[in-house]
Amino acid sequence: MAVPGNQPQPSENALTVALTQLRTAGRELGLADDLIEYLSKPQRVLQVNFPVKMDDGRVRMFEGYRVQHNFARGPAKGGIRFHPAVTMDEVIALAMWMTWKCAVLDLPYGGAKGGVVVDPRELSQAELERLTRRFTYEISAVIGPEVDIPGPDMNTNPQVMAWIMDTYSMHRGAMTPAVVTGKPLELGGSLGRNAATGRGLVYVLEEYARQKGINLAETTAVIQGFGNVGGAAARFLHELGVKVVGVGDISGALYDERGLNIPALLEHRDRHGVIEGFEGGEPITNEELLALPCDVLIPAALENQLTGANAGQVRAKLIVEGANGPTTPEADAIFRDRGIVVIPDILANAGGVTVSYFEWVQGLERYQWDEDEVNQRLRQKMVRALHEVMAVAEKDGLPYRQAAYALALRRVAEAVRLRGIFP
Ligand code: GLU
Repeated sequence: MAVPGNQPQPSENALTVALTQLRTAGRELGLADDLIEYLSKPQRVLQVNFPVKMDDGRVRMFEGYRVQHNFARGPAKGGIRFHPAVTMDEVIALAMWMTWKCAVLDLPYGGAKGGVVVDPRELSQAELERLTRRFTYEISAVIGPEVDIPGPDMNTNPQVMAWIMDTYSMHRGAMTPAVVTGKPLELGGSLGRNAATGRGLVYVLEEYARQKGINLAETTAVIQGFGNVGGAAARFLHELGVKVVGVGDISGALYDERGLNIPALLEHRDRHGVIEGFEGGEPITNEELLALPCDVLIPAALENQLTGANAGQVRAKLIVEGANGPTTPEADAIFRDRGIVVIPDILANAGGVTVSYFEWVQGLERYQWDEDEVNQRLRQKMVRALHEVMAVAEKDGLPYRQAAYALALRRVAEAVRLRGIFP
């Protein structure tokens, strides 16, 4: 999976963004200040520093985190990312977004996230395995099928999930598939999990277009990020007849107003890891990519890509967030003023964690659903969540992000109220 790179790096402010979103939505909803204060804190933050023996015999120290933001609605759930720009604040923000995302989709989970500060492209496969296993060992005291269930995120894949499952299982003395999701099919993974985030995003877009009378086959799209989320979204959009006119990743960006050849570009990426070197399309910069004329812009890379500095240049009519936290509150305000609709991350990219939930259920039952059943249930959940968000937005006159937050916060707040404060 590509590390989105030529995009600007996320600044330290992912947490500032997440907190601003929470406080704005909480006040709008009339939540008590002490409840907003409670929800603004991660319940548990674990920082680990651990050694990994490198292939040349030297020992290198790595820093990692597992953050559990909230458990009110169930065990904490969220991915693990391997990225050189990981920080504690970023992982806290991402864990918080998982709490809201799981609540918007009405999954019986709280939110968590993990990260290791590493550029996995610099590691051999054996080093990556040792790093993954040692990190799993370091966080094993706080994870478990009923406590906190990791899953994939940026630069982690089914093989990494298999190592996490094996490491946890070896220590426990019993194979424990439900401790992690996004596993290979052979080890209790779910059919449909790999493509689920991109597929879920496209289900949401399809239903939104249906509601608004938009014919997707006559629209154009631009996608920032061409990894697990952006690549899959491109594939499904292409299959629906959407013209994908711009795509970018760590290696650069490409534009073709007639539409890029997405199947060929995906093949190129699978062979070379990046879109660089693809014959077809005009090379452009990341700034140019985000400012391309198009109907739908899908940021599917890192946080903090659409900001007060570049939101004025965006020429899309609709933004569907494949990444977590790609839009700052300043950019949101500009989009609102300019009539650009944003379908927020905690709804649009929830397909991944939704199929992770299905995988967890299958793991606990030791039973495998067929792919049609997975996709059908995914569509059902995504469409229901979109309808619920649209209904709140309409009733209360809110943009979709605020409406999604309102839905999520009500659900989490109600769980907190019913459970009470211990002791
Ligand atoms: N990384 C995915 C997300 O940001 C979900 C991880 C999981 O399946 O737990 O939503």
